Amino acid sequence: LIDKIMRSYDTIIDEKELDVQLKQPQNLVLNTKVELFQPICKNLIENAIHYASDKGKIIITFYEKEKEFVFSVQDDGIGIRPQEQERIFERFYRVDKARSRNSGGNGLGLAIVKDYSRMLGGNVTLDSYPGIGSTFTVTLPIL
Ligand code: ATP
Ligand code: MG
Repeated sequence: LIDKIMRSYDTIIDEKELDVQLKQPQNLVLNTKVELFQPICKNLIENAIHYASDKGKIIITFYEKEKEFVFSVQDDGIGIRPQEQERIFERFYRVDKARSRNSGGNGLGLAIVKDYSRMLGGNVTLDSYPGIGSTFTVTLPIL
């Protein structure tokens, strides 16, 4: 699933010379609704790639913790100010409309990530520091 998503961003990953790392254990199995889980992964990876700095590093991690499945996407891009961190999960909310216009989005990606994570019985959280980067973490129950 992740390989397929990554392949659709090959050109921009090359252009920005991004270092994308995938960390996953060998024997972790997630039983989930792929039609909900795929857009969660796609939107978080797409954002990390778009908002990463040139030559930036993106780390995609999967692991299991206390009967929960954890998926996180970490970037070392522009980061998000504390006062915007709640709002970016709202539909159509974008931090810098002028600057983000050329990246062509609608501000729907994170609203989808949040809705779908909840529909799967989980949630999404954010750790972010302006100028340092952002980590989005999706936690889903293991059924
Ligand atoms: P869409 O996903 O609909 O194409 P979008 O990427 O602007 O458009 P969201 O994915 O919902 O919309 O993100 C909302 C806003 O949150 C973005 O416009 C951007 O300002 C900010 N944002 C999201 N992810 C990151 C990130 N990894 N680093 C910095 N800012 C981010
Ligand atoms: Mg987006």
